[in-house]
Amino acid sequence: MDRQIVEIINKALDGTPLKQQEIVTMLDCPDTSEEAFEIRAKAAWAMRERTSNAGVVFGQIGLEMHPCEANCSFCSFAKDYTQLSNIEISDEALIASTENFTGDGNLFGLWLMMMATYDLDKFLDKLAIVKEHVSGPTNIYSNVGDTSREDFEKMKKAGIDGVYHCWRLREGTDTPFDPEKRKQTLINAKEAGLDVLDAVEPIGPEHTNDEIAEHILFSIEMKTIQSGSMKRIPVPGTPFEDRGMITDFRLAQIVAAQALANISYDNICWLGIHEPSPLGYMSGANMITAETGVNPRDTAEDTSKSRGLDIAACRDILRQCGFTKLAKGDGTLIDM
Ligand code: SF4
Repeated sequence: MDRQIVEIINKALDGTPLKQQEIVTMLDCPDTSEEAFEIRAKAAWAMRERTSNAGVVFGQIGLEMHPCEANCSFCSFAKDYTQLSNIEISDEALIASTENFTGDGNLFGLWLMMMATYDLDKFLDKLAIVKEHVSGPTNIYSNVGDTSREDFEKMKKAGIDGVYHCWRLREGTDTPFDPEKRKQTLINAKEAGLDVLDAVEPIGPEHTNDEIAEHILFSIEMKTIQSGSMKRIPVPGTPFEDRGMITDFRLAQIVAAQALANISYDNICWLGIHEPSPLGYMSGANMITAETGVNPRDTAEDTSKSRGLDIAACRDILRQCGFTKLAKGDGTLIDM
């Protein structure tokens, strides 16, 4: 075993913040090396120790879709590549999805997704419906485009608990957005008193370990309560259709490095992995998402009938991966 890797792992387990180069060194290990197996195993063990072997289930409801002017090169909603037309979830379907996701009171968080350009009043109207029908201590999170502190304050007043937003890999190259504006949105959310959630995404074969490590550290700097690693899906019809995809095995190593980098952080940061895979849940990931409505990684109008998982399937994946507890939105643990 490489001594430098042992030292980095021990440093992480001791709760010492890792430097970018140390994360890169972990990511540089070949996937099948002894060092990579050790990184994955120790990350899983450390995260489970920290959470009493608990996982969390989130739900996401896509509220609307329209061909998106932003035209990000990897997205199934981008106006030049989309096969979808304008879709807006009906109030009846929104109530049914909210009750379906939260009816047993055990969902940790519910994301409400709109597009990069969205109507705040419409978001608040949909939020009011969700608030009326949500059960249990489920946290409500927005997943929308760049937003000012003032608008986040309005959302907070209307009942959201936090904001999912990403400074994505190669923002400004594969997307039209100014990376600093994306980062500022997370700062706006924090200044509005909201929790922030994000992911290192969308990871493709071309991204360097330096880029990935930089994004892992940015999430930690933002003190996200939830992060994770997401691989890019080569959505048919987009410029990335033929550009390949990293394996679940590689993604597991990335989430393991992310988990070890997070150990020094005093809050529990729930870590997701997209696409969900047992390899990821055996490598430090502990959070899974059920999805309904539209989904930017999918070309189906209702992802729950295609790529999306339902709550029962999510819980079963966690259970099969050995998690024995489920954390509810207020942090209380119940038996899986
Ligand atoms: S990733 Fe978001 S901003 Fe970019 S095209 Fe898709 S919906 Fe629009």
